[in-house]
Amino acid sequence: MMVYLNNKLVPQNKAFISVFDHGFLYGDGVYETLRAYSGVAFKLDEHIERLFRSAEMIGLKVSKSHEGIKRAVYKTMKANNQKSAFIRINISRGIGPIGLDTELCPKPTFAIISNTFKEYPGEFYKMGVKIAIVNVRRNLRDALNPMIKSLNFLNNILANIEGKNRGAYEAVMLNYKGYVAEGTTSNIFFVKNSILYTPAIDVGILDGITRYVILDIARELGIKYKDGRFTREGIYSADEVFISSTTREIMPVSHVDNVKIGTKIGRITKTLLTAYRKKVEEYIEEHR
Ligand code: PMP
Repeated sequence: MMVYLNNKLVPQNKAFISVFDHGFLYGDGVYETLRAYSGVAFKLDEHIERLFRSAEMIGLKVSKSHEGIKRAVYKTMKANNQKSAFIRINISRGIGPIGLDTELCPKPTFAIISNTFKEYPGEFYKMGVKIAIVNVRRNLRDALNPMIKSLNFLNNILANIEGKNRGAYEAVMLNYKGYVAEGTTSNIFFVKNSILYTPAIDVGILDGITRYVILDIARELGIKYKDGRFTREGIYSADEVFISSTTREIMPVSHVDNVKIGTKIGRITKTLLTAYRKKVEEYIEEHR
């Protein structure tokens, strides 16, 4: 596999960075994850815009232009002969002596890793997955805003450890006030009496690109939706629950903690997933 590192493609076994990189020392950096279908990276512009936003929020100057990043993504996919890919764009603060001052690192490290996409088991989409609402709380917005898609992922990793210990596929965190926030790598939605609900951005979540696509679809299909503050009881009493992310699209949830939601994909979840996949197809046609 070829990896894009700074300005060139290098073989995987030569794709190294320094131990003095502040990404390694402090988790200081930002990233994006994308999914490519039939050689087209879905919502590439939106992901690059979010990358720039995250970078700006940590005072990191991106050394490439929007178009330059786009070219680098396709160059990496091409070098690996990939049509269906799982792509990560990673920018870290760069190499510098030990110390927190960002000015110690004059040049950010830029990397793109493109793996062949591995499909999730079909069962997950038919029967749903188990999620756990964990004790680890989502980072406080005023401390480390979840809208920064940062390399510093310990909050999510701690939640993941707890979720895994409880036999869950995904761990969902509450915010510091006890409102449902988001999964470790996903946003959460639920349906009650045919209305779609999802936590509002100001609860302290990453504004998922998939989340926006789903809300657009709901608008187009005339599905009523509300974003807001919801407690865990709201999720327990839902008719349908699903999680969303770039790689998973829309994944139904069968159980939340010990509460059974349903052992088949729900009606609205299914409608949204079908419409989501249609949107992906249309996007591919337009961007080929
Ligand atoms: N929340 C978190 C914490 C995430 O890591 C992700 C995955 N990027 C998401 C939500 C979903 O975002 P997206 O739909 O843009 O993949």
